[in-house]
Amino acid sequence: MASGPAAQAIKRWISAQSLYYESAKTALLFYVLLIQYLRAYRHVRARGPTQTISEFWQWISKKVILMALRLPSAQKKVQTEMDKARLDIEDKLVPKGAEISRHLALPAEGKPPQWILDEMTKMDVELGSHADWRHGKLSGAVYHGGDDLQKVVVSAFERYSVSNPLHPDVFPAIRKMEAEIVAMCLRMYNNPDGAGTMTSGGTESIVMAVKTYRDWAKAVKGITEPEMIIPASAHAAFDKGAMYMKIKVHSIPLDPISRKVDLKRVRRAINPNTILLVGSAVNFPDGNQDDIVALGALASSHNIGLHVDCCLGSFIVPFLEKAGLSGGENGGTKYKLQPFDFRVRGVTSISCDTHKYGFAPKGSSVIMYRNSNLRKYQYYINPTWTGGAYASPSLSGSRPGALIAGTWAAMQYMGSNGYLESCREIVGAARTIANTITASIPELYVLGSPPASVVAFASQDPKVNVLEVGDAMSKRGWHLNGISSPAAVHIACTRLTVPLVDTFIADLKDSVQEAKTAPSGKGTMVALYGLGKSSAVGPSMVGELATAFLDTLYKA
Ligand SMILES: *Cc1c(COP(=O)(O)O)cnc(C)c1O
Repeated sequence: MASGPAAQAIKRWISAQSLYYESAKTALLFYVLLIQYLRAYRHVRARGPTQTISEFWQWISKKVILMALRLPSAQKKVQTEMDKARLDIEDKLVPKGAEISRHLALPAEGKPPQWILDEMTKMDVELGSHADWRHGKLSGAVYHGGDDLQKVVVSAFERYSVSNPLHPDVFPAIRKMEAEIVAMCLRMYNNPDGAGTMTSGGTESIVMAVKTYRDWAKAVKGITEPEMIIPASAHAAFDKGAMYMKIKVHSIPLDPISRKVDLKRVRRAINPNTILLVGSAVNFPDGNQDDIVALGALASSHNIGLHVDCCLGSFIVPFLEKAGLSGGENGGTKYKLQPFDFRVRGVTSISCDTHKYGFAPKGSSVIMYRNSNLRKYQYYINPTWTGGAYASPSLSGSRPGALIAGTWAAMQYMGSNGYLESCREIVGAARTIANTITASIPELYVLGSPPASVVAFASQDPKVNVLEVGDAMSKRGWHLNGISSPAAVHIACTRLTVPLVDTFIADLKDSVQEAKTAPSGKGTMVALYGLGKSSAVGPSMVGELATAFLDTLYKA
């Protein structure tokens, strides 16, 4: 069969095949190039040309500096500095000395209850006052609902300390309480027919929402390279969730005056891979609220999710209107609250922290969805597990039923009138602080017009570094937060700070004068912020220090 029509036909077939193969290869190449081009185009479109160039420049500078730091001489210096910083952190956190008792292995025989309590008292004394937070000079951190409420929560703990909602047949009351907590929150956010679950905190609520939208978008829209769009002021939990769930994040700058996310930039960042938009009511850094109505319109026109982070605003923002603090006589137009809950078209989920201004025990939060169809994408279901068919609503498996009982108890104890009263007190304190800064501390200005409990202030006087002000406040016993872009300091008012408003203002005025006339340059806020901004590798260095800090937490 060396020649003849059959051989000709085979040859033709082979050459056709190879032509086919060649064009398939070319097509594949074009496909890959197109995908890469689309990716780059969408990235640049979302970031804008200026930000893209600046990010690229940062990236190059970082590479160059990192290369330079690899030189042996530089490396030694960096190592020495880092070791010093690490020791500093350790000195601050871990008590030293032979007199400190350490319990590094299980005692052979169990200890009597009295010994245990005595040992805790000893630790409190050795390590500095446990009741330190009671002086109230804190931003956020302790959301105390009063001693009587505390007692109710502790009794609920005691009663349900062994319960676990993973076994609703064994603990039916816990199941009922969790369902009721979710129902109460859904009503508070005007979606009685919606759905939700409890979680261990705001971070878990947010991470679960991110997972829900990822799985929803994959199942319903076939999206395999998901992206989400968040305001620069969104809580770090969104980044954390995106990192865990492998989702690309576009962080959108804020309007410098209103501190709301720039809607034009949000619109530009939306593409067919977008699964989720985010807005806050209110945000952590400066306590302002995004334009939820406009974000909702964008989300619904693109058929994507809109999560409203109400973690910090929960049990405060829903009561502002009733408290007469949203515009009107007492609020004026300045602190006017805009719609933020499920009544806004396009809002598909809301995270609400019971463990902040709900005064529930730490470790409790609620994630809510517009409907139960969306909620099911949050679930984890494994019908074929060797250990038996397995289903759990959120990240945890076993969960503390005691926390659910404590949360239920706190909400019943407070009632909506209790929360209304605490909203009045707390927001009243925040408004007094904001108004006083605006009226009588000319060196500072308030970021945006925060409607709820958080006030952030920055400097408008070149002679005053606001982080110096923050450090001067720490010397006066205040634990405040430093924030960046712009450098500012914030306080989240709580019931503990309400009686201290006058002290805060007096201390703030003194601190501004101190920062102006005798800046120390040595405080923690100045040091950390200075390091972060020092060069392109500043953030990596801060990252190293943060890692050392976390390591230190586990030094027994
Ligand atoms: C506190 C907070 C969260 C969640 O934080 P957790 O510490 O995990 O409860 C989320 N968003 C905002 C705006 C917050 O203030």
